[in-house]
Amino acid sequence: MRTQSPKQLFTFSGLLCSTLGHDYVVTRKITNHINEYKCTNCGKEVTDNFSGRLESLTYKTKELNTSLAHFFQKKMRRKLTISYEKANL
Ligand SMILES: [Zn+2]
Repeated sequence: MRTQSPKQLFTFSGLLCSTLGHDYVVTRKITNHINEYKCTNCGKEVTDNFSGRLESLTYKTKELNTSLAHFFQKKMRRKLTISYEKANL
């Protein structure tokens, strides 16, 4: 009986990444220090974690980043409002 082999994951871009490293571009800014990145060659997605290292982007880390981004934006908005009020004093 023949079994169908899974689609080959080995690609030229994958080879490029493993030899030269991934070519990441920022896809989403979460905070001043945390971003999400995507490799332009192989499409691998990673994110900065709290210890400042790159970690692969999973459903869980994506969700975490989303709530972190909301929290950060709220904080930033409040900061902006406060400095605006101070400027008007
Ligand atoms: Zn890559």
